[in-house]
Amino acid sequence: MSGSGKIVVIGSSNTDMVVKSRKLPAPGETVIGETFLMNPGGKGANQAVAAARLGGKVIMAARIGNDVFGKQAVSQFENENMDTAFITVDKELPSGVALINVDANGENCISVAPGSNSKLSPGHLEQLLENISGQDIALLQLEIPVETAVFAIRKCFDKKSRVILNPAPASPLPEDLFPCLFLITPNETEAGLLTGIQVTDIQSAAEAARQLRTKGVANVIITLGSKGAFLLTDSYSGVIAAPQVTAVDTTAAGDCFNGALAVALAEEMPLEKAVAFAGKAAALCVTRLGAQSSMPYRSEMPA
Ligand code: ATP
Repeated sequence: MSGSGKIVVIGSSNTDMVVKSRKLPAPGETVIGETFLMNPGGKGANQAVAAARLGGKVIMAARIGNDVFGKQAVSQFENENMDTAFITVDKELPSGVALINVDANGENCISVAPGSNSKLSPGHLEQLLENISGQDIALLQLEIPVETAVFAIRKCFDKKSRVILNPAPASPLPEDLFPCLFLITPNETEAGLLTGIQVTDIQSAAEAARQLRTKGVANVIITLGSKGAFLLTDSYSGVIAAPQVTAVDTTAAGDCFNGALAVALAEEMPLEKAVAFAGKAAALCVTRLGAQSSMPYRSEMPA
């Protein structure tokens, strides 16, 4: 959308390799699988694709390996019209991969080798963050080194750009980082790990959100799966319901939600509207199979 700020996504890029088989292998066992799929993934890349398809001007900052997976990731980002100037190549480590086994019931087991994602360092982001402005939105997750995320968040805060942190996977954060966050978006499990409050219903979500605001986060969204999302701001406290849909595959629903949220904020939608927008996008995402492949385009969004 013309006139809106840029969306700077700083995060992971992985290749997911999925084998579907009747049963998951036990330790030491070999199971002959049925199908093999190779899909682009990583929370950073998924969220960036969601934001780009929904109309955001996305700059993706990531670290890939000097291999075919890294090259494929960059060309996929280019196909989605993202700026890839801040994707750097690690000469030593391979690109990140996730090995995923899925059984006939949809149960899975996953091993992730972060590879080059683990080498994304503050130095790789300095030039990018020097030029970030107050109009821009920075979107981060925690599949990169926490010290790099912390560096980037502080720098964005200094530059007055609004930071959305999707704290996934949950990881301990320095207490003085919370006041640098415009928005934090944990799911129920992550909210529990960050606050020590087990989030099981709306009341406990409200309690966890209040605690995160007490730590200094300006606004809090706790995503509640098919129930929607709990939003806490200066002037709003409550659940914004998700549209009711028949879910086929909830993989990357949270990533879609966060990418859409960044687009809405870059377009200066008020937070309540932004959460509703993100909920609509994520509801479309769960009606289709896959991670990046299930991210909706702006033209598919209901008015
Ligand atoms: P995932 O790990 O599957 O990516 P998550 O655990 O990070 O997701 P959730 O809270 O499960 O995050 O989902 C994020 C958002 O996606 C929800 O707030 C909601 O808006 C939407 N969503 C998830 N599941 C459904 C569903 N079954 N129907 C409609 N919307 C859904």
